[in-house]
Amino acid sequence: MTKVPSVIHWFRLDLRIHDNLALRNAINEAENRKHFLRPVYFIEPDIKSKVGVNRLRFLVQSLQDLDANLKKLNTRLYIIRGNAVEELPKLFDKWQVKYLTSQVDIDPIYTKQDEIIDEIAEKKDIFIVRRVQHTVYDVHSVLKKNNNSVPMTYQKFLSLVQDVQVKDCIEITKQVSEHCKPKDIDSKKYDVPSLNELELDDSALEPLKYPGGETEAVRRLNMYMARRQWVCKFEKPNSSPNTIEPSTTVLSPYISHGCLSAKLFYHKLKEALNGMPHSQPPVSLLGQLMWREFYYTAGAGTENFDKMVGNSVCTQIPWGTNEEHLKAWAEGRTGYPFVDAIMRQLKQEGWIHHLARHMVACFLTRGDLWISWEQGAKVFEDYLLDYDWSLNAGNWMWLSASAFFYKFFRVYSPVAFGKKTDKEGLYIKKYVPELKKYPTAFIYEPWKAPKSVQATAGCIIGQDYPKRIVDHDKVHKDNLQKMSAAYKLNKERKALKRPLK
Ligand SMILES: Cc1cc2nc3c(=O)[nH]c(=O)nc-3n(C[C@H](O)[C@H](O)[C@H](O)COP(=O)(O)OP(=O)(O)OC[C@H]3O[C@@H](n4cnc5c(N)ncnc54)[C@H](O)[C@@H]3O)c2cc1C
Repeated sequence: MTKVPSVIHWFRLDLRIHDNLALRNAINEAENRKHFLRPVYFIEPDIKSKVGVNRLRFLVQSLQDLDANLKKLNTRLYIIRGNAVEELPKLFDKWQVKYLTSQVDIDPIYTKQDEIIDEIAEKKDIFIVRRVQHTVYDVHSVLKKNNNSVPMTYQKFLSLVQDVQVKDCIEITKQVSEHCKPKDIDSKKYDVPSLNELELDDSALEPLKYPGGETEAVRRLNMYMARRQWVCKFEKPNSSPNTIEPSTTVLSPYISHGCLSAKLFYHKLKEALNGMPHSQPPVSLLGQLMWREFYYTAGAGTENFDKMVGNSVCTQIPWGTNEEHLKAWAEGRTGYPFVDAIMRQLKQEGWIHHLARHMVACFLTRGDLWISWEQGAKVFEDYLLDYDWSLNAGNWMWLSASAFFYKFFRVYSPVAFGKKTDKEGLYIKKYVPELKKYPTAFIYEPWKAPKSVQATAGCIIGQDYPKRIVDHDKVHKDNLQKMSAAYKLNKERKALKRPLK
């Protein structure tokens, strides 16, 4: 008896069935050729060492939801335990694969995988289809339109896409036919792993505030889009970094994992804005989505985008190293309550507001600690639910005034900034409970509280809560001079066109 060949859809950052053209292509191919359909996702055994616990939990939930949604289409998700580059070639033979689909991902982890798989597939005569579906625009076409160079400003990026017609979303509504179901469709060995199997002990974690999955993503999107007035009036700078409940959509974890299609978000936004007076980019909600497109374009067009050295858009700055300071920052122990509250919220919940990210990124780099943005980006990679290769690197470069933003003399004050939107320090009291009995006058600067006040509040500075690790008023002035010198040097080197050491 001849074996029935298979069609694979390889899920990566597209954990959804809505607006998934690559998945639909796989289904159609299997249907037309009467082949088996096998939607797969690879989980590496050591994933725990690469993905932070909150994000791993979000991922597992997203995979469970994807599996449930695929089952509604009369198929399932095949979880393969192992590295894609090692396992996929084995599956090519075992399953007699003739056709493979996936989405275009620009993160170097995936582009490297694609190169290897392409070579193997060619030798085995396997047809590969990749679809642009993680971004609203095809970022490679945008780069081409800009003479294959990166648009260095947001406005320039907008001008490049202003006439581009955004394609409609596609839906998969038809059930997969019985003849596309492989014999092993019910095999437990391909089930989504439990947290236990991944050796993840979530007993010490708070319940996940933002549960993973396409179902929750679409629910959240619809909930926000129903608030048309809110959408039309949205201006990012007027949202607050320190409300207890988020003042922006928190759709980012869903978009980053592909549980939500950026294109669906785009079309829903257009629908909500249609015929109504509304805010404009860069501050509007549509403008936020365009920031994502901007950084994706920059990331796709820049070698070593997530590093300083060898990155053509990044100013070379002689950052220092200080393991103790880095650790204190990452663990929320800098002695600056606003900074510490943000970092603790990040670690606990996996999401913080954009302006809160501004505060802590500025503090780590050019503002106070003079530590490389690459170090900060690594900590964010570990903690963020919405970690995204190009958005993380691009925004870190912005905040450290290494690329895209150059007004390095504008430094966030760890004392004054938070007060603008939370005078009473309620946010600090939630995330830095040691200080919850502090009077409002000292909540942002507890070191200024007299000893008697500290004792009454039950928190002695230097004993129950750390002393400041640096004096912002002093260090930020020193850092301004260092930034100024680095900019000058970069300018001179550029003028001389001398390669940097
Ligand atoms: C240092 C630093 C690191 C960051 N790292 C990441 C990251 O790894 N992943 C990530 O998704 N975002 C990152 N951001 C961007 C931004 O902070 C988040 O996208 C945003 O806060 C997510 O919250 P939201 O979904 O409520 O955003 P909303 O304000 O509701 O915006 C809607 C969507 O627009 C996109 N968006 C909003 N702001 C930006 C921005 N500045 N750049 C790019 N896209 C944006 C996101 O997809 C977001 O979900 C980073 C920002 C900074 C300053």
